[in-house]
Order: sequence, then structure tokens, then C-alpha cells
Amino acid sequence: MSTTLPLAIATLQTMAIVIVRYFATSGGFAWWTARRGIVAGPADPVRRRRQVRAEIRWSLISAVIYGLPAGLMLAAWRFEGLTRIYTDFGLGDAIWWPVSIALYLFLHDSWFYWTHRWMHAPALFARVHAVHHASKPPTAWAAMSFSPWEALSGALVIPLLVFLIPIHISALAVVLTVATVMGVTNHMGWEMFPARWVNGWFGRHIITASHHEEHHKRYTCNYGLYFRFWDKLCGTDKGLANFTR
Ligand SMILES: [Zn+2]
Ligand SMILES: [Zn+2]
Repeated sequence: MSTTLPLAIATLQTMAIVIVRYFATSGGFAWWTARRGIVAGPADPVRRRRQVRAEIRWSLISAVIYGLPAGLMLAAWRFEGLTRIYTDFGLGDAIWWPVSIALYLFLHDSWFYWTHRWMHAPALFARVHAVHHASKPPTAWAAMSFSPWEALSGALVIPLLVFLIPIHISALAVVLTVATVMGVTNHMGWEMFPARWVNGWFGRHIITASHHEEHHKRYTCNYGLYFRFWDKLCGTDKGLANFTR
């Protein structure tokens, strides 16, 4: 059987999933933000509306780009069994399950940290990363507001990892959920975790909105995605924004 049709179907499915996921999570958290009486994004309502429209436009283009490698991953898993995604759960998986999640998140975070720093080089910033920083300050809709080049860089990591590192389908679901939720909540303009978490062990190691907001304010620090590990190691960690609520 030709592989073109299954690949095309899988790609359309993943594009649709990413678009629905975007509206559900960004929409959901934007709604929660408004419900709490918090105004995220520019204070001026005209500028805010214009920014949110741009964030949604860029995010939809990114969703199409994210759908391409994800569709390839789905087709390879579904039709050819080529990936390292597995569905049986043996005794050994009780240990590998959390390890695989931590490993995927660490590798995704490492890729993000170094490519993100690279994108801040003057030669690349305007062409690759300025779209994301046009959100000043960002809103929940900015979660996927990237230029096509930046979107492609982000879209490749997990679809590539599933060909290399074994992962249970449910562990992959956890990784994708963490990626989606943190991508949205880190931009929504307020801290959803309790102050004692953010100021304790959790906040010292895990990146939340308080950390990423500082990147959007100061540009040259706090480049990480999930963990403060690389920022601390490389001296680019400049602490947390003071908007813990
Ligand atoms: Zn950001
Ligand atoms: Zn940046």
C-alpha cells in the first residue's frame, strides 16, 4: 500500500489536534485569567486586542508547522511500527515510566535552552525570534506565537525523540500535556502556583510564569523551558518576576 495517503491523513489529524489543543488550552487559561480580574498583555485595550489577534495568527501558522513532524510520527507509529512508542506495560516499566518522562523533558528543555540562546544572537533575532517577543507583555494566546523558523525548531524535538528513546504512550501523553500547559501558563501574565511553592524547592528548579515573565521583560536571561538547570549552570538565571499571586 502506498504510504502517501496514511501520511497525509495522519498529518491532517495532528494539525487538527494541535489547533484544537491551542484553542482549548490558551482559550481556557485566558478565560481563567479574565475571570480572576487580571488584565494580561498591554494595558491599552486597543494595543491588547491587536496583540492577541497577532498571537492567534502566528500560533495558527505554528500549529500547521507543528502538525507536520507530529503527523510523520503518528503515521510511523500507526502504520509501520517504526517508533519506540510502546503500549504494553511490564514490571520494568514502573521504573522506566517516570525516568522516560524526566529524560524527554530534560532533552526538550536542553534543546530549547540552547536554540533559544542562539535565536537571541543579533544576526538571528529579527528573522527568527522577534515574533515571540512582539508580545509585550505576553498573554495566554502567545503560547505558540512563533515565527515559522522558530516553530519548526520546536516542532521537531519530540517527534525525533520517539524514534530514539523508548516511551510508553501514556508517558508521552504526560510529556505533551506538560509541554502544552507550561507553554500556555508561562505566558498568561500571572503565577498560578502558590507563593510558598514558587519561593521553595519547586520554584528554585522548575520554570513557571514568574521565571519566564522575566525573560520577556529583560530578554538576555531566563532562557529555559521547564527547568532552571541550564540557566543556573550558564549564569543566565536572573531570578523571578515579582508577580507571584
Ligand atoms: Zn515566551
Ligand atoms: Zn526569547
